[in-house]
Amino acid sequence: MAGQQIVHAEALVFILRNAKGKIVDRSLQRFYSEEELTTFWRAAEKALPNVEVHKILLRGAHEHPRDESKPQPRGTLWCPYCTSYRKFIEDEGYKRCEICQMSTMDFYIVKFNPDLAAQQKIDRYKPSKREK
Ligand SMILES: [Zn+2]
Repeated sequence: MAGQQIVHAEALVFILRNAKGKIVDRSLQRFYSEEELTTFWRAAEKALPNVEVHKILLRGAHEHPRDESKPQPRGTLWCPYCTSYRKFIEDEGYKRCEICQMSTMDFYIVKFNPDLAAQQKIDRYKPSKREK
């Protein structure tokens, strides 16, 4: 077929953890269709039972569900790309989603986490070391 194929809007992230639950490796796999993604996911789950598989959005962002029956777990933020509550881990000065790696500097992550937006506003008004 001529022309470029468009990559499917969702990808899979494969996560390897050590015995303590710390992520030691991560791999992102893109697909050309939902069908290709689903087939690969099923095969991977069978072949790699110790590997976590998560579906993430490559385009677009999923709004916070505001579902009272599913309270936000402590220490998590809503990740609009994972469509789930996630831990955000400090990485070279940024906090990033432990699964999809998006940082708390991202527009939609700030938008869907009002507490985070408020916190970042406070941080901005803190005097820098030079001003002290
Ligand atoms: Zn994420």
